[in-house]
Amino acid sequence: MLRRGCHKPSSIFTTLLFIASLTIGCSEDPPEPAGLPPPPLLSSPFPFKILHRLDGIARLTWSLDTRGCPIDSKVAEEVIGAALGEWEAAGVRFTPAKRGEAVDLLIGWRPPRHGDGLPFGIGEGLIAHIVEGPRSGDDASWSIHLDSTRQWNVGERQPTSLAPSDQVVLPRRGDPHLFGVLVHEAGHILGLGHVPQENSVMRPIPSLGNTSPSAADLGGVHSLYGGGSDHPSDLTICSVDGDGFPHPVAPVLRGVASWPDVRWRGADLDGDGAEELLLRPRGAPTEGSGLTLLFFSGPALLTTSEGPVAGLLSGELDLIVGKDAEGATILAQLLGDGTTRALRLDGGHLPLSLAGKGIPWQGDWGVADSDGDGRADSSGGPRPRSDPASQEGVILEHDVDGDGTIETLVASERAADGTRSMTWRGRRGLASFRAIDVALVDIDGDGMLELVARGLVGTEKN
Ligand SMILES: [Zn+2]
Ligand SMILES: [Zn+2]
Repeated sequence: MLRRGCHKPSSIFTTLLFIASLTIGCSEDPPEPAGLPPPPLLSSPFPFKILHRLDGIARLTWSLDTRGCPIDSKVAEEVIGAALGEWEAAGVRFTPAKRGEAVDLLIGWRPPRHGDGLPFGIGEGLIAHIVEGPRSGDDASWSIHLDSTRQWNVGERQPTSLAPSDQVVLPRRGDPHLFGVLVHEAGHILGLGHVPQENSVMRPIPSLGNTSPSAADLGGVHSLYGGGSDHPSDLTICSVDGDGFPHPVAPVLRGVASWPDVRWRGADLDGDGAEELLLRPRGAPTEGSGLTLLFFSGPALLTTSEGPVAGLLSGELDLIVGKDAEGATILAQLLGDGTTRALRLDGGHLPLSLAGKGIPWQGDWGVADSDGDGRADSSGGPRPRSDPASQEGVILEHDVDGDGTIETLVASERAADGTRSMTWRGRRGLASFRAIDVALVDIDGDGMLELVARGLVGTEKN
C-alpha cells in the first residue's frame, strides 16, 4: 500500500473545495490567528506548498470506480489517463492497475454526503476531494472523489458515439472540467497544496485552459521525490566528508530560496531534535507574504511546508529562535529602538501569535529578554555569516573531519551570479565548491550537521 512518508498531526485527509464558478478553495491551509491580517494572495517568493510526501512514486497504479460514473467509462478512463499523464514531466508514472493488482489511486463519483469529509455542495460548492484509505471506504491507498450530482465537462472528449445518446449531456458554461480538476487533484495526491501563482495548476482559483503543471509545480514534486535541473535558488542538503566535500543526501529543494530575495536558516522549532528550515523574503514585514517553514523526516526528506504567513517578521532583520518559560518556541527580532518583537510558535507549528508583554524568553546567539519587558538584555553574540551581504572571509567554523580541530570555510568574493568559491582550510584536504551561501543544519536530527547550500554548483578537488 502506498502511504504517506510522514503523517501530519492535524488531519488524515485533505478536503478540496470547488466553487461553482470553477473557483476552488481548500481547507488544508492552517487557519490564520484571530486578529492578524489575512494572508495576501500576492505572488509568493515560495513556489509551492507541501502537504505530505508519499513513500514512493516510481509507479503509481490507478483505477476508475465505474459505480456511479456519470459519463461513459471509456471516456472517463481516457480523460483520467491523460490528466494523470500531465505529471509525467515531474518523473511520476501513473499506470492503470492490472486486474488483481493493488490500487494506489481510485477515482470515483460519490453523492454529496458519503461520510469521509465535508459533504459536497457546502458553501459555493465543494465538488471534489482527495482522501486517504481506509477512511475513503475504498480498497485503495488514496481516492479522488468527484461530486456525482454535477455535470462534468469532458471537453473534446465528450462522447458522441461511445455512449447511448440519452446519456450524453452537453457541457454547460460553468460545469467543472474533469481534465483540469483531475490534474489539480493529482497534484494534491502527490503532496502539493494550494499556491497563488497564476500559472500553477495548484491555484485555488484555476485559470481556465491552464492544465499543465508549471515549472514551480514540477519543482515541488522534484523537491519531494528527486529530479529536476539545478538553479541558483535551489537548496541542497549535503553530508560533508572528512575532506570537506559536500555530497547531496536528499532531493534538492528546487527554487525555494531565490537569491538575494529570500533569507533562510535552520532551527529546531518543534523540539524533536531535527532542525527545520525557515525561509523569509527580504523586505519590510508589511510587504508581501512572509515566513515559510519546511519540515523534514527520516533521512532529510521534505514532508510538509507551512506558510507563507503575512507580515509580522521583517526580512531585513536577523531572526532569533528561542524558548519562553513555558517551553513554547519564540521567534524574535531586535527592532532598531532596542525593543523586540517576539512571536510564539506553539508546538513549533504555525500560526504565530504575539508573545505579549511580561513573557521572558531566551534566544540563540545569546539574545534574551530575561525580564519580559520587551527589550533585549543585549544584542547577543556574532551571527552565522551566511548572509547574502556578507563579505569574503571565514563564513563557517566546524570540525569537519572529527579530529577535534576546527576547520574553517573560507569564501571568495561573489561572482555575478551570486556564487562564491568556498574552500575548507584545516589539517586535512582543501575541498572547494561554489555556492551562494551555506549553513550547517541538523536536518535529520542525528546529531551530525548537514551542510545546506544555496546555489551549489559542484565540487572540485584542489
Ligand atoms: Zn485544491
Ligand atoms: Zn470522499
